[in-house]
Amino acid sequence: MTLLYMDDIFLQHETGEHPECAARLESIHSRLRAGDLLAQVDFQPPVSASLEDLTRCHAVSYLEQLQTVAKFDGGRIEADTVMSGKSAVTAWKAAGSLVDAVERVVEDDRLQALCLVRPPGHHALKDAAMGFCLLNNVAIAAKAAVEGWGLSRVLVVDWDVHHGNGTQDAVYEDECITFFSVHRSPFYPGTGRKSETGAGPGLGTVFNLPLKFGISRADYLTAFENELTKAADRCRPELVIVSAGFDAHAEDPIGSLGLQTDDFAELTRLVQQVAATHAGGRLISSLEGGYNIDRLADCVELHLTTLLTSQA
Ligand SMILES: [Zn+2]
Repeated sequence: MTLLYMDDIFLQHETGEHPECAARLESIHSRLRAGDLLAQVDFQPPVSASLEDLTRCHAVSYLEQLQTVAKFDGGRIEADTVMSGKSAVTAWKAAGSLVDAVERVVEDDRLQALCLVRPPGHHALKDAAMGFCLLNNVAIAAKAAVEGWGLSRVLVVDWDVHHGNGTQDAVYEDECITFFSVHRSPFYPGTGRKSETGAGPGLGTVFNLPLKFGISRADYLTAFENELTKAADRCRPELVIVSAGFDAHAEDPIGSLGLQTDDFAELTRLVQQVAATHAGGRLISSLEGGYNIDRLADCVELHLTTLLTSQA
């Protein structure tokens, strides 16, 4: 069974003339509603994150700041990041939906989940918004799996074209969470070198795969599979969480690492294989970037199709 978190509440994070806009999700919604995939999923209502969930990754003072900015009807909270009056409520629901997915998937290893949420999360820092992100949905979910549900080996795979610096920061010293990111480099946000491998008890749990613009699709996929295998073999995950950004698509206006829509089916299959081999198939995928509205709908539709057809 595949759980789907897809709800109009995630349109309420209104950002105006901004690449990370509600129209991204509207495009995905209308595409999925026009097809037959939704008959095959188990819809889950969005759930708000608890303070306990959020403080595993964020400072209370920062959470209060987000609520205050929303209360005064939003505004620009950081160079690239905009909030509306509903953005805090929406962000709490985005993070909470991932935590809810963790609870359901951990309790029943036949399950996978796709969380079509916004705002995205992988740049969000402990005490600051960054790069269109408010709360670090995936890091919050990974920490919930470990600290709330007692897992000791979680693998986060981040294939968004940008390095997931916020997620890396959150798990850098965590021996229970392995982080693998493939990203364009040099590129925003400037982190994600191969030499960043974790610290303290988490030393060796961070796998960065920076790739140069211009790499061929075949070379990208080979490098992805090799590094994913290394990370998975070391981690032997009980749960796999994907930061699924689709901005490595060749037609993405702010990203691009030359991928075509079909390549995201292959990425999905490779991650599903890891989940099947190590984690009894337990896989949670969460939307990050992807700014070509039509290609984003193509990619998400194919991602969900692949999740559904390849499920054991
Ligand atoms: Zn991105």
